[in-house]
Amino acid sequence: MSSVKPDYLRRRLLQGAAATWLLSISGVGAAAATSSVIAVRVWPSSTYTRITLESSTPLKYNQFTLANPNRIVIDIENVQLNSVLNGIANQVQSSDPYLKMARIGQFDPNTVRLVLELKQNINPNLFTLKPVAEFKNRLVVDLYPSNGSADEADDPLLALLKEYNQGALEKDPPAELPQAGKAGRDRPLVIMLDPGHGGEDPGAIGKRGTREKDIVLQIARRLRTLIQKDPKMKVYMTRDEDVFIPLKVRVAKARKQRADLFISIHADAFTDRSANGSSIFALSTKGATSTAAKYLAQTQNEADEIGGVSKSGDRYLDHTIFDLVQTAAINNSLKFGKEVLTRMGKVNKLHKNKIEQAGFAVLKAPDIPSILIETAFISNLEEERKLRTTAFQQQLAESIFTGIKAYFATIKY
Ligand SMILES: [Zn+2]
Repeated sequence: MSSVKPDYLRRRLLQGAAATWLLSISGVGAAAATSSVIAVRVWPSSTYTRITLESSTPLKYNQFTLANPNRIVIDIENVQLNSVLNGIANQVQSSDPYLKMARIGQFDPNTVRLVLELKQNINPNLFTLKPVAEFKNRLVVDLYPSNGSADEADDPLLALLKEYNQGALEKDPPAELPQAGKAGRDRPLVIMLDPGHGGEDPGAIGKRGTREKDIVLQIARRLRTLIQKDPKMKVYMTRDEDVFIPLKVRVAKARKQRADLFISIHADAFTDRSANGSSIFALSTKGATSTAAKYLAQTQNEADEIGGVSKSGDRYLDHTIFDLVQTAAINNSLKFGKEVLTRMGKVNKLHKNKIEQAGFAVLKAPDIPSILIETAFISNLEEERKLRTTAFQQQLAESIFTGIKAYFATIKY
């Protein structure tokens, strides 16, 4: 693309009406110096709808709302309408709970106007994201329902997402002690399952096109069904649909439910397709135990920048917040991980025979024993094939469940 900066172009355009007129009728000069929108995605979910415009250069925008009918108008500067942008209208699904339709047009020679017609009162949240992984510059429009406090009380995820987007979550919720009483005797053991990725963030993608986000959700649902049958346990999921949830919100959700255990479920990927086997990670207070663990922690933590605003990557690690509670939680995480890994070793080859430790953002609930399970390598042809089968998914779920019960039997809450 052209190296002319949008600001420079703007100034140049303002230098004379004649120049502007020439550019707008020829179309060529303007098109060469503007941002090019290369992808548009619309992700509806029950909690919120996300619209992402991906572009070669950062997008500048202005936004306002109109009533009767409810609309959000977004003017995007230095952009020319193209077939990608025009395609947004067809991406809106009739089942979308928040978005009724999207219209787009060239408002003036320099501005594209996007009009979002809404189905209900909406609290929009717009922000831009810098390039990360395979994603370029993005303008993100999140549409949250603004129906008052009743809805938020019903949906803790919605409340947490809003807090996160308002920057309130950055302060970190105060540590809530585990629930009183012995789990399994006085109260159920509370387990938070965290299917990795979702929405705009597909996670790793296998050679046959299998997406990590879909497989891990299926495995988590199978595991949930097993846990639900045990009256001594209570289970929650950080997501139960194809939606993007920031890492910090996943952890905050576990803390809000005062979970006793946090289990993040993933499928591994590596450039070398021969890599295979299951592995389990626990948080480390120090550096990652291996280069691979370090690399993995970095790529998983990147997920937050793929779909959201990463607000405090390493706060817990950077500050001297690690106290005895954290150390105890890490020891318990290792113990818990070991019980699960032993059982998983009976249904799949193990990638490493011991629990690896790394600084995963998603494991940073300082008081909840937490593990991250890499069920298998989706980048390995044979393991990708297995991950797609219900039989293997069920075996994985059952091995994790057996590991939970074994750990539960050894620990006093
Ligand atoms: Zn993953």
